[in-house]
Amino acid sequence: MPHNNQTIDQAIHHTLKTVFGFHEFRPNQEAIINNVLYKKDVFAVMPTGGGKSLCYQLPAKIMTGTAVIVSPLISLMKDQVDAARQNGIAAAYLNSSLGSQEVSDLFRELRSNKIELLYIAPERFAMPGFLDTLKSVPISLFAIDEAHCISEWGHDFRPDYLSLSVIPKSFPDVPIAAFTATATPKVQEDICGKLGLRAPFLVRASFNRPNLYYQVERKTQVETQIIEFIRGHPDEPGIIYRTTRDSVTDTADFLVRNGIKALPYHAGLSTDVRGKNQDAFNRDEAAVIVATIAFGMGIDKSNVRFVVHADLPKNIEGYYQETGRAGRDGEPAHCLLFFGMGDIPKIRFFIDQITDDTERSMSLEKLNQVVKFASHNVCRRRQLLGYFGEEYPVDNCGNCDICTGSVEQFDITRDAQIVMSAVSRTQERFGIGHIVDIVTGADTKRIRELQHDMIKTYGAGKDRDKKHWRFIVDELLAQDALRQEGEPYPVLKLTEKGQNALYGREQVAALKRDAEKRKGQTKRGIFEQYDTALFERLRSLRKGIAEEEQVPPFVVFSDKTLHEMCRCYPITLTDMRKTSGVGDSKLKRYGDAFVSEIKRYLSENPGIIISERQAVSIDRPRTSEKKTGETVEKTYRLLTKGMSMEEIARERNLAQSTIATHIEKLILEGRGIEIDNLIDPKKRRMIEELFSTTKHWNLGPVVEQFNDLVTYEEAKLVRAWMSKGG
Ligand code: ADP
Ligand code: ZN
Repeated sequence: MPHNNQTIDQAIHHTLKTVFGFHEFRPNQEAIINNVLYKKDVFAVMPTGGGKSLCYQLPAKIMTGTAVIVSPLISLMKDQVDAARQNGIAAAYLNSSLGSQEVSDLFRELRSNKIELLYIAPERFAMPGFLDTLKSVPISLFAIDEAHCISEWGHDFRPDYLSLSVIPKSFPDVPIAAFTATATPKVQEDICGKLGLRAPFLVRASFNRPNLYYQVERKTQVETQIIEFIRGHPDEPGIIYRTTRDSVTDTADFLVRNGIKALPYHAGLSTDVRGKNQDAFNRDEAAVIVATIAFGMGIDKSNVRFVVHADLPKNIEGYYQETGRAGRDGEPAHCLLFFGMGDIPKIRFFIDQITDDTERSMSLEKLNQVVKFASHNVCRRRQLLGYFGEEYPVDNCGNCDICTGSVEQFDITRDAQIVMSAVSRTQERFGIGHIVDIVTGADTKRIRELQHDMIKTYGAGKDRDKKHWRFIVDELLAQDALRQEGEPYPVLKLTEKGQNALYGREQVAALKRDAEKRKGQTKRGIFEQYDTALFERLRSLRKGIAEEEQVPPFVVFSDKTLHEMCRCYPITLTDMRKTSGVGDSKLKRYGDAFVSEIKRYLSENPGIIISERQAVSIDRPRTSEKKTGETVEKTYRLLTKGMSMEEIARERNLAQSTIATHIEKLILEGRGIEIDNLIDPKKRRMIEELFSTTKHWNLGPVVEQFNDLVTYEEAKLVRAWMSKGG
């Protein structure tokens, strides 16, 4: 273990590159790793796909002794170990599938310090004598995966986890890092207490999944709609969720009859069949799995490219969890929900069976929230994050159907004004029911007593029914034009946005619920373009290798890594080594095979433009000077003299923004610009993080978000730098 900050920093970055083949950390990874290396306990809540395993695998590689990983699912351990071994990490597992001879062999290896990473099932810790045996092994750290399983408040309580509380007492000098993807503050406190974490370093990452595209479509003939969707995503692995076992079977059959390799998964199938189907899906043999929500825990597959909900989910938590299984590799993935009003009574039927009053009304409230999510004209991402108490900082997420404008909307400004005028003319002192009565011109005792039949808006909306006006009120609440205040009889108040709409300064739109169905198009931003024909070739190469090695394909290379190859066409091992996800071990194993395949492809397709191929090679400053023009070249020459943006602007008597545009061009051309000379690396990382959480490239929101700390010019340079792959 290195002694000073500098060498630790170097060791971390070196390992990231050589072992994992990654160029940079995802948010929070570096901080967590640093804390573990300094032997501090860690508690981290990070969303699925956030990259939790790297947080313990990397220290395991650097520290002396074995890193012990507690992981609840025996079925996943083999894959986890295989994946680590692919990266050249000495990994093993200890669970009930091993015989006693295997166990004692394993301990011999452990004692002789041959194992860097050991996965253990939690129940081991409750076995008599186990701790003493473990104490005979040098241990670098403990990592507790799915740590919420220790809490009775969580949704996956496993009594076995309680025995983990002995760890800090038995290993006072070994750091413990606990990870979970779901924990409310209450559960978080419970976990830290039960595990006995010692003043842990706390991380609560954003739950935003920027690479997921959220879309809601009106449900008509859902099976046909699914087929249409899948045809637009040929051969991509995906999950279709349905509510009942029968509908799972029917839909799977229907897909198969239509030539799609689909398999069913539900609790009514035998363990054997379920295991086989899940395996086939994991190994990319069946592209599509049709499943009830029983299919969930234990899916480690990182290249799920879409999740379709053919029926309305019961609540937002479930929906978030299920869609969360898409795109763990960080590459774009599509989440499509088919929403039909007809699904509501079906769920209500089940809710009505609940005997406990509180529980029943909670379930109803949760159902309402899903319906709102699907029917309101509010960014889907903002709604999901809002549900988890997280405020989304940007107006337009750029990656949902609402924000990309792919849903039809209609102007409800006039109706909104009618409602808000009624609210305003009654001094914001009445609730929804009364306001709707005024608007529809109802003849009630209360209206007569209050003389509300005298106000101008009375009856202004009598051409539409109450249901319509309730929808308008709901929409205005969802869009923050109205808010409710007061308990237990909340009254409606106008917000600033409401005032603006009332006085015609702002328009209000709602979703056209019975709009002509539109084709869902995923937005393909600059992140996502790659050579799809080459991808097919590399994917089948990957599948062949995976079969031979008996591991799931995504363990060989992730989709993200293949996509990058399909943008950069690496045809030398040196270039291949620059691809994210290609570390030393994988380079040695697969580098040649992939390089040859890419070469073959390029020779068969001479039409591929050379400049595209070079675009990635950062250290190949050969782009012609003619293309960029003399003025940019002048800036380039001053840059190479080590001048800053400001100095160049002064020297050339040009605006800084002009110089920034020059530099942007130079970066995009791969001219080897030293970004760190232009902007403080810390600041750069901050900006990068914001760009990658919002995943759209508008400079305005980024600059605003940092309150003038960041200039447009700086944001522009970082944007160019990122789009070149950093
Ligand atoms: P989690 O356990 O949090 O759901 P994983 O550890 O499985 O997430 O990581 C998800 C994916 O992200 C994996 O394919 C992993 O290789 C990849 N990954 C993790 N860290 C990085 C990084 N720093 N850069 C690029 N990819 C990463
Ligand atoms: Zn959005």
